[in-house]
Amino acid sequence: MRRRSRHREAIQDTLRSAVGPLSATDLHERLADSGIGLATVYRLLNEGLEDGDLVTVGLPGGPKRFEPADKPHHHHFECVACHKVFDVMGCPGGMDRLVPEGFTLEQHEVILSGRCDACA
Ligand SMILES: [Zn+2]
Ligand SMILES: [Zn+2]
Repeated sequence: MRRRSRHREAIQDTLRSAVGPLSATDLHERLADSGIGLATVYRLLNEGLEDGDLVTVGLPGGPKRFEPADKPHHHHFECVACHKVFDVMGCPGGMDRLVPEGFTLEQHEVILSGRCDACA
């Protein structure tokens, strides 16, 4: 496995302490003080994906966002006003009830949307 660079650690720490998944440009803005370039952010995110430290979160119409791979099962809330995405802990469960007879459910995503407390 590759040696983790200081910038790679900074990305991992930022994602770990964020309220939800972040895009490459979000990370670039938050790490502006460290002088890390956007191209480097992309490269390190790809390394993180390859090494299994990170996973992507796809939200319809939004940029690809990233989060640490080892977070416990959770879902996401997207604010329709500021477009921030927040982790929502917990799961309604029982998704297999929705699956047609004879199908096997392997995974699910739940995306809530509305306004965050700052935008409400
Ligand atoms: Zn908001
Ligand atoms: Zn769930």
